[in-house]
Amino acid sequence: MATTGDLVREVAVADSQAQVMDRLNALLALASPKPYATDHDGELHLHYAAPEAGALEQLTTTVAMGLSQVVVQHGWQRLGVCAAEGCGNVYLDTSRNASRRYCSNTCSSRSTVAAYRARKKS
Ligand SMILES: [Zn+2]
Ligand SMILES: [Zn+2]
Repeated sequence: MATTGDLVREVAVADSQAQVMDRLNALLALASPKPYATDHDGELHLHYAAPEAGALEQLTTTVAMGLSQVVVQHGWQRLGVCAAEGCGNVYLDTSRNASRRYCSNTCSSRSTVAAYRARKKS
């Protein structure tokens, strides 16, 4: 059986809407949402997992609900996997022109330096 982490990655690397939908639905099938409103941190917001649910169930439900909301609101093209060598982190592209390729500034500058060195060598 696929784990929550595998499914999140599969959603991020999917390259068609049909694929995204399939994988998102597989992830959602693992979730057991029991939404409720709370203001435990002073701000009214929703929690998706029942407070009495186990840690893994809470995580799966929160990730599945959160990820599907992001995909529905911002578009599945906004999810990507870091292009830096040996990284593979999943990111959400919030840039205005959807130009993001790396998970972090660290990966971005690491790759710029590596590309520069590779150019210099050849
Ligand atoms: Zn909260
Ligand atoms: Zn990265």
